[in-house]
Amino acid sequence: MAISDMGIAQIREGLASKQFTACEVAQASLDRIAQADSQVHAFLEVTSEAAMAAAQRVDQAIADGTFDTLGPLAGVPVAFKDNMNMTGTHTTCSSRMLENYVSPYTATCVQRIIDAGGVPLGKLNMDEFAFGSTTESSAFGPTRNPWDLGRVPGGSSGGSAAAVAAGMACVTLGSDTGGSIRQPASFCGIVGVKPTYGTVSRYGVVAFGSSLDQVGPFARSVEDAAAAMDALCGHDPLDCTSQDVKAGFRAACQQDVAGMRVGVVRSFMDAKGLSSEVSERVSEAAAKLEAAGATIVEVDLPHIDAAISAYYVLGPCEAFSNLARFDSVRYGYCEEGHKDLGGQYEASRAHGFGEEAKRRIMLGSYLLSAGVYEQYYYPAQQVRTLITQDYRNAYEQCDVILAPTAPATAFKFGEIADPATMYLSDVFTISINIAGNGGMSVPCGLGAQSGMPVGVQLIAPQFKDENMFRAAMALEAAYGKAPVAPNFADGKVIE
Ligand code: GLN
Repeated sequence: MAISDMGIAQIREGLASKQFTACEVAQASLDRIAQADSQVHAFLEVTSEAAMAAAQRVDQAIADGTFDTLGPLAGVPVAFKDNMNMTGTHTTCSSRMLENYVSPYTATCVQRIIDAGGVPLGKLNMDEFAFGSTTESSAFGPTRNPWDLGRVPGGSSGGSAAAVAAGMACVTLGSDTGGSIRQPASFCGIVGVKPTYGTVSRYGVVAFGSSLDQVGPFARSVEDAAAAMDALCGHDPLDCTSQDVKAGFRAACQQDVAGMRVGVVRSFMDAKGLSSEVSERVSEAAAKLEAAGATIVEVDLPHIDAAISAYYVLGPCEAFSNLARFDSVRYGYCEEGHKDLGGQYEASRAHGFGEEAKRRIMLGSYLLSAGVYEQYYYPAQQVRTLITQDYRNAYEQCDVILAPTAPATAFKFGEIADPATMYLSDVFTISINIAGNGGMSVPCGLGAQSGMPVGVQLIAPQFKDENMFRAAMALEAAYGKAPVAPNFADGKVIE
């Protein structure tokens, strides 16, 4: 098997038995990126030196006989979405605004992955400031879906998903404000986890919607994602919303689903935008869980139809506030030669931000203005409370909810041009960020019409993310681990 197709257990075994060194694994990944990324364009920056230095530390530990003391990601090739700071790297958020910004510090999530032994390969493409569902809004060009280069990888964490699907990295991190980990995981046929809000520190991650954003891993197996979660979780004094979640994700993977109650939401399964090829696969996934010993129960989320509207009020309002810091003085692109600061500010923001970022800023500034605030922002917060209660009530009848991740499989470039239609691609993921629950997407086969991967979403009660990992393991047992996309499997490169 090519190193690029290996999961964490195989890399660990190969290192421990001295089949290969960590430096060889790192070099294989760097070579893989050099070959495959001209096609996929997942990486914005490759950190070869940092990768080799981390790999050398692992090799030294093996030589010293202390390999067992290293963390769960020892020698594992990893990479990070470009909204995560890592000292000395560019952190651009795929925006002209931050094109030349170099991180003076490292985000907690990045540090924890490196402390766990991860070998950092670089920074990954995304929609500008994480606004989008396709990676097309990146100022540096889109990422392509490794399963079909004519299709989008999803977004906003499209680079993070594509890098794992093409075998360029074993584990990557993304961030999810309304679906940006789960939807690209589903489009690229891999596992993507958005933990319960507060499980992973947001310190050092450029904020989009601070009350919605959560960092999580992508991987080709549930256990690899669990290993990353064990490294990522735990209280961080630098983020006041972070909670002391204990590392128990790999342990949860050892439990079966016998006796588990799996909730299915009728209004999700009957949603009018849901394509038949996705609906078929999701129903089949429910049957597989039942066959593995779980009980299927129907649950109701009565206010769920209001989720998209609430999100497109709350999200832009928070984004508008968070993006105010890019003022050409403290941070960001600066267009000089204006006679006053106001002129500089206006021109810098006009040219530094792309279209979708501007749309969100304008929407947020309008929604928060006097007189309008009471009409939109306040009711949206009330809807948020209702949706959170809906989930709480549903979990009195079930331990985990099963739903589609996205209404359809990956679409072709340019297929969806209208922003309002694009916003609907998160119809099944957004309410989970609103309520703060954990959600993950797990591959469940290919769509009958498109032949593209379909993801099924598992949604856990707040701080019971282990429930979704248990169910995910049962699905993985039925469907098998996610392969590297056929075009790139076994070290292949398509021309
Ligand atoms: N697609 C959604 C949006 O554009 C979600 C993005 C995200 O989760 N970062 O807002």
